[in-house]
Amino acid sequence: MTKHKRRFIIAALIMVVCAIISYLYLISYNEIGEIYQAETQNTIIDLKKSFLKDTVTNLIHEIDVSRETEAKRYKRIVDLRYETLDYEKDLSEEEFAEYCITVFGRDSALEGDPYHWTVFLWDSRSNSVLYDPDGLLEQDIPGTLEKTKTALLYYKVIDHGTISCLFGFDRNYVEERVKASTQARIKSFQFDNDSYIWVNEVLNYEGGKDYAIRLVHPNLPETEGTYLSTDMTDIKGNFPYLTELEGVKRDGEVFSRYYFKELNGDKISEKLSYARLYKEYDWIVAMGVQINEVEQYIDKTNERSREMTTKFTMRLVLLLIIVIAFFLAFLMLIEKWHFGHTKKQLESEINIDPLTKAYSRKYGTRELMRAFREFHINGSSPVIMMMDIDNFKSINDSCGHDVGDQVLKEVVNTISQSIRSSDKLIRWGGDEFVGIFYGSKEEDTAYFGNKILAAVSSLKIPAGNETLDPTLSIGISYFKEKDEDFSDALKRADQAMYRSKEEGRNQVNTL
Ligand code: GH3
Ligand code: MG
Repeated sequence: MTKHKRRFIIAALIMVVCAIISYLYLISYNEIGEIYQAETQNTIIDLKKSFLKDTVTNLIHEIDVSRETEAKRYKRIVDLRYETLDYEKDLSEEEFAEYCITVFGRDSALEGDPYHWTVFLWDSRSNSVLYDPDGLLEQDIPGTLEKTKTALLYYKVIDHGTISCLFGFDRNYVEERVKASTQARIKSFQFDNDSYIWVNEVLNYEGGKDYAIRLVHPNLPETEGTYLSTDMTDIKGNFPYLTELEGVKRDGEVFSRYYFKELNGDKISEKLSYARLYKEYDWIVAMGVQINEVEQYIDKTNERSREMTTKFTMRLVLLLIIVIAFFLAFLMLIEKWHFGHTKKQLESEINIDPLTKAYSRKYGTRELMRAFREFHINGSSPVIMMMDIDNFKSINDSCGHDVGDQVLKEVVNTISQSIRSSDKLIRWGGDEFVGIFYGSKEEDTAYFGNKILAAVSSLKIPAGNETLDPTLSIGISYFKEKDEDFSDALKRADQAMYRSKEEGRNQVNTL
């Protein structure tokens, strides 16, 4: 597998892993989003529900308080009137009767907010009725008094001689006043978000046509006073009035959802309402809010959440890309290091002779070619020296191959110490070595060859009982203009070396 292919596969694998991670991340994110949305929707609806319920319940509580307060107020008015009348003891019976007619008549004629007293004035001596503005008298006075008293919320009877006066306030009159003020108050309420309270008075708890009358409806004030039917449906086919009636009959209260026109416009939207029965008045007090406003909020939240998801995903992808890039760079670095290391190792295996650590023949050939090229450029030839250990075979034969190896190593070591670091010592084969020496003058060559000879021949290598003292035969040559390649010079060095062998070994010859 090529390096590129391997890298491609690794990168593709990482991409796939990244894609899977991103996909899983997106799925989880969406799932969390959906749960969050559902929870938000429930929470908002719950909040709306408790708002509706609290508002209606508080209103009903206010009606109770109003009724109580009004009852006390009217009772106090009756008591005060009694005190006023009782104060007029000095008046004659006729004067007292006249006085009663004046004060009660004046109250009924008050401008703006008159008191509607229930008054009945009679003379028990003559058994005659003196003042009966509402025409209460039926058969006789006692029967009339009996009947009238039951209809009154509170009353007093004052006697002045034979003159008596029954006065008080009718229960219905007081209730109607409370109802009227309550309705006025409901109409004045202001709520946010298209909310309002409406009141229907139930006429027939069995439902059907004209089962109720609309008393208060801030959204459709022109329809106040109209009759309602439980058969009425909304645009989605729900029966809001029927649901409401059945709910309040069953539990006294009910939450419901239906479609109705919006407060400020003709648009139809879903509403959530809470209705509660106020049995004392047969009122269904209800309040509603629009639901689509919740959906708008959810939509807004969704939009923001989508934006955030995109942002997060982009960040994740960016992060993954950075991670991949780092990983690939790291991989390439390791590969490069590994490649360099292996290359170096291979090079040294190719270029260095493993036994003697001299340069290999392969390296030597390259070096000779290079030197030959340079010779053609600058005309100066290095010294080419061919060296061969004398009678090396017999060392092998008498002392063994290992000792032979030892001798080879020692000879290379010794020669290496006699030459410069820029010179090259090459193991050409067996016990044969080639030296390339740069920058030496021709006249110094013999001296240089003899120096090597002397260094090697002074070697004393212990081998068992004896001591080996190896020698070299050396042949020297140079590149010449007419040479075709380096091997011509090498051949001449070889010939010179053979001459050294022939002439008794352990000597230098130049050709
Ligand atoms: P001459 O003086 O004529 O060179 O005689 P010689 O015995 O040295 O003859 P020659 O150079 O032909 O012998 C080379 C011998 O070196 C032959 C071979 O067995 C031995 N030889 C070659 N390579 C190695 C090696 O790596 N280790 C050992 N121990 N011996 C080797
Ligand atoms: Mg030899």
